[in-house]
Amino acid sequence: MGRGRVWAAGLVTAALALSGCTGGDDNGFRPGAADAGDPYVPGAGNGGYDVGHYALDVRYDPAGDRLTGTATLTVTATRALSRFQLDLAGLDVERVRVDGEAAKHRHDGAELIVTPSGGLPSGRRFTVEVTYGGVPKPLPNAELGDGGFHATPDGAIALGQPESASTWYPVNDHPSDKATYDLAVTVPDGLAALSNGVPEGRTSSGGWTTWRWSERAPMASYLSTLVIGDYRVSSGTHAGKPLVTAVAAALPADGPAAASVARTGEVADFLAARFGPYPFEAYGGVVVADERIRYALETQSRPVYGPAFFRGDRPNTEVVAHELAHQWFGDSVSVARWSDIWLNEGFATYAEWLWAEHDGGRTVAQTVVERYAATDWSRPTVDPGRAGMFGDAVYQRGALAVHALRRAVGDEAFYRVLRGWLAQHRDGNVTTADFIGYAERTSGRPLRALLDAWLVGGTPPGLP
Ligand SMILES: [Zn+2]
Repeated sequence: MGRGRVWAAGLVTAALALSGCTGGDDNGFRPGAADAGDPYVPGAGNGGYDVGHYALDVRYDPAGDRLTGTATLTVTATRALSRFQLDLAGLDVERVRVDGEAAKHRHDGAELIVTPSGGLPSGRRFTVEVTYGGVPKPLPNAELGDGGFHATPDGAIALGQPESASTWYPVNDHPSDKATYDLAVTVPDGLAALSNGVPEGRTSSGGWTTWRWSERAPMASYLSTLVIGDYRVSSGTHAGKPLVTAVAAALPADGPAAASVARTGEVADFLAARFGPYPFEAYGGVVVADERIRYALETQSRPVYGPAFFRGDRPNTEVVAHELAHQWFGDSVSVARWSDIWLNEGFATYAEWLWAEHDGGRTVAQTVVERYAATDWSRPTVDPGRAGMFGDAVYQRGALAVHALRRAVGDEAFYRVLRGWLAQHRDGNVTTADFIGYAERTSGRPLRALLDAWLVGGTPPGLP
């Protein structure tokens, strides 16, 4: 793509400029890269290290929209580093410590540049503690919609893909660096503070309540969320794991939103019967009332749904099936780069079709005929361009390719491919080439030409 070429040229210039100004040092310590090198999200992510864990301790006061926090990151250097960068947008940094020692830091736009007192050898495990605060803001994004921290009348919603996390904590903000999380979030008594993973209890003191959450499976940063406000929270268990759902108090207690998320466990079981065991330690879902959230997002173990999905009189469980399918496709098995986002969306959309058929709606065959007729074959599913990340070529054409694979190899081999793929790459990162290679090996069939035609070919392949 044109955008990709421009970016690659920019990268070379930046690398030359960096080596020119530092020259490295005698021990080979050099600055970490300023981004993950993903042309779909220039500036996001960083290089030279890998984050293993985030321990976040934040306080949010809706009265002044003020967030204060301490983030403690457990990190491993993947090469000898003289300094490194974290993504942090729009907040002020008070102090940075590396392994408990004060480190020099500079905040340049959305990049926090940290220079520890000594170089970090490759393979060194270290901690970075950042104390920060301010009034968080969303990341403006005209093409894809603003992501990140939105203050609401009763609290806040931090949410967004492909970027959002850097608006509320310092982060290596790219899905290629997944990490586990502990979050303690302190809010005024009476408000809920919802996030990912297992609820670890809450304590109150002096008018403030601290809610604790832990996500023990590696999570991509865009899948982290924080929802604060007036919510009806329902806590139970499903299949031996905590299930926490929440619906904004502004929405009716017996309306379609509540009825839809109430089926979370049932939908997850339907998907687990096809994709293999549910990959996380908790279940859930949060429905927000804020009209600015015009989408649903598969935030790990606890998707967040915008209010528009539940306008009608009837429940909408297709969106629940879509977001829960992402727990396998996208969350557990994540893209290594955004140009392969169909590996998330194509499968989640297909799961939506499977659920609709199971739940008495349209059959998959009917949906395939309809979507096939509506497909613009000039738009590729793989590498659709940044502006096309959330387009029909990724979702609908991607799901058609999944169906074509199913028809080519048969149901038995199809589900064997999906289950094996998800098990083999659990908690990992993958590419389209990985998937095609895996499907060919597992089914024993050559599939490249077929999938090329369905994913990127310029003319309609024969209807499967
Ligand atoms: Zn999706």
